[in-house]
Amino acid sequence: MTPMEVERPDLFSNGTVILGGGLCGLILAHELAQSLESKYGANAPCVWVIEAPSGPVPTRDQHRPARWLRLLGGEADYQLQTQPSTALAGRSIHWPRGKGLGGSGRINSMIWFPPTDADRQSLTKLLLPEQRPNAEFPSAESQAEIKLQLLKAFDRALEIVRPERPRWLSPTSTAFLESVSKLPSGCFHAYDRLNRNGRRWTAADLLADLQQSNPDAAKRIRIVRASVSSLRIDNDAVIGIRWSDGRTSQIANGVELVSSLGAIGSPTLLHRSGLTHPQIGQNLHDHLIMPVIHSHEGHAFSDSTSDTRELARWQHSGGGPIACNIAECGGIDEDQRWQLHVTPTDYLRFPKDTRRPAMTIGVNVTCPRSRGSMSWTEDETIIDAGYWSDDRDRIELLDGVRWVRELVKQSGFDRRLRSELIPGSKRQTDEAICAAMARYTQTLYHPAGTCALGDVVNPNFRVRGLANLRVVDASLLAEPTTGNPTATLAMLACYAAAQLSRE
Ligand SMILES: Cc1cc2nc3c(=O)[nH]c(=O)nc-3n(C[C@H](O)[C@H](O)[C@H](O)COP(=O)(O)OP(=O)(O)OC[C@H]3O[C@@H](n4cnc5c(N)ncnc54)[C@H](O)[C@@H]3O)c2cc1C
Repeated sequence: MTPMEVERPDLFSNGTVILGGGLCGLILAHELAQSLESKYGANAPCVWVIEAPSGPVPTRDQHRPARWLRLLGGEADYQLQTQPSTALAGRSIHWPRGKGLGGSGRINSMIWFPPTDADRQSLTKLLLPEQRPNAEFPSAESQAEIKLQLLKAFDRALEIVRPERPRWLSPTSTAFLESVSKLPSGCFHAYDRLNRNGRRWTAADLLADLQQSNPDAAKRIRIVRASVSSLRIDNDAVIGIRWSDGRTSQIANGVELVSSLGAIGSPTLLHRSGLTHPQIGQNLHDHLIMPVIHSHEGHAFSDSTSDTRELARWQHSGGGPIACNIAECGGIDEDQRWQLHVTPTDYLRFPKDTRRPAMTIGVNVTCPRSRGSMSWTEDETIIDAGYWSDDRDRIELLDGVRWVRELVKQSGFDRRLRSELIPGSKRQTDEAICAAMARYTQTLYHPAGTCALGDVVNPNFRVRGLANLRVVDASLLAEPTTGNPTATLAMLACYAAAQLSRE
């Protein structure tokens, strides 16, 4: 319980109501509270954050990066499931989504991957003010201005998130990076982490930071633990919130709402509130990763060391294997077609089975073209992930698997490995590799795009047709981010906060 928590009010009489206290929602709250406080002082309106209650999670799983996979399927996970997919050998994929203050950051793998030029370019186009019919194409100045604002927003995100350099790297990842550094191309490195002193950081930590740095601004934030079911809409305005227990609260005139419920939550809210824009829940995209798994002669990595020296080391300096976030390093190829994630584990068996010394090089297509969609019954959300609905993604991933094999050979890293287990050295033909891909690919946990900027939401983040509702979260991303999305989303949330503060 934070000092900012309050009972659910019957009436939201002033301020901004942010639905969802995940990554984007809490960054928005952190930024808005400060700008309102500096503008209006003690008379500043409230910033409400509504977040679903979640059960407790074991503290050691929450704080120790090496144990993050144990959080999946637990109390902080919505445990969504995609529809069975014929492209993926009939499999239905578990889609974890984080619940509780901090959102998916409570259970994620903590990689901080800065937006690329292509990511910024794609957002710039969507954030340009909309043109009236027959008007000229937006000027170069306005494009340059948005690019500049995005750069500033990213600087701000860095300032508040403060991603950390890894405190420890496994011998496997160290050897991999050493080997590939000899190659003329590619950009591989140990990923920066969403950590503080080798411990998980989530956006919920921003609340404590604010209490320290600007207690007056922190007093403007009110946190309500409740699940939103839908919005009451009258003409073009939200006039109330319906809660999952059937109760309702009213929204006073002049109160602004922002949906930051995430890529699944936001379109679900809009749909359940009776909005009928045809793109709500469409354009769903995700990165699909194919693990290339090798056995090796070294030691198997374990996430639950009973070595008291290692525990003391982590407690003292935040270092050692406990600080390992599993997906420790990787990078993208020269043409930005694929991203790699290197883990010192057998990705498909870890952490259930940690006996076999193995390592994984996961490869995914950076910009998949496939799109899925969401639909709803009375009480269910149905997710068709649409994996490989565009067959070019399957072919590109096949090329990616071949590229990983080549990389391992050319860099000499193969000398440190015993044998390829998945797809398996016997699987050499396109057909055999594709069959393995259908069986073993996994979500990289990046669903997005379901209330896309430019379609459902205008460049001011407003839901089309509604005067007082915005969306700021992963559902805005019309295109997949090149790498892991948190850094780009943090930038977008800071950009949106700056825009809202100017109004
Ligand atoms: C297992 C996993 C690993 C990942 N690893 C990485 C990684 O290493 N690097 C990276 O960059 N990205 C990673 N991601 C993705 C990243 O965490 C998300 O893209 C990001 O958190 C999305 O931010 P968001 O604000 O859109 O949504 P979220 O952070 O998910 O926040 C949405 C919030 O809304 C709340 N909410 C939803 N519905 C309701 C409701 N009806 N009522 C009240 N509250 C509600 C949720 O409880 C949640 O707190 C990972 C994600 C997962 C799940």
